[in-house]
Amino acid sequence: MALISPLPRIEEHRVPVVFDCPDCGARNVRGMAFDLRETLRLNYRVPLWGWSTHWVRCSHCQAELHANCKAEDLQGRSPTDVNHHVRAYLPLPARVLAIISLATGWAPIVGVLVALCALVANIRTRGWPRWVSVGALVLATAANVGFVAVLWYLRNKIGTPINV
Ligand SMILES: [Zn+2]
Repeated sequence: MALISPLPRIEEHRVPVVFDCPDCGARNVRGMAFDLRETLRLNYRVPLWGWSTHWVRCSHCQAELHANCKAEDLQGRSPTDVNHHVRAYLPLPARVLAIISLATGWAPIVGVLVALCALVANIRTRGWPRWVSVGALVLATAANVGFVAVLWYLRNKIGTPINV
């Protein structure tokens, strides 16, 4: 039976760098730039698809930060240069969830639930998805309060005896 093996983590071309970590905020901290090689293989042998991504690991907080160039391109660069190529990695599902929560915020009940999930997924990330999630939850709560208020108003109106 054909099996697609789990992705092995192969770190290539390690290059020591000095940079300011966007995750823990440490300045002039030592980091390790590396290329992460991932290959999808059939039956642990036949390579189907391979790709490389580039990262810098902070020696202070161990966070892995996304770099937009190869590790070797960071060799001997100044901290300012390295900072320019590195940014905190925002996990994709959390980002997508943040956007979905904004889109569904108007929906009764579902909007609040999705916004809560997005907030839980993003509470520990830094940067915009967390603020989008907070905003979505505020919007969803406001929309739902409005929705309940309209229902309440209609109920009272219909419930009023006709012979007033
Ligand atoms: Zn750090």
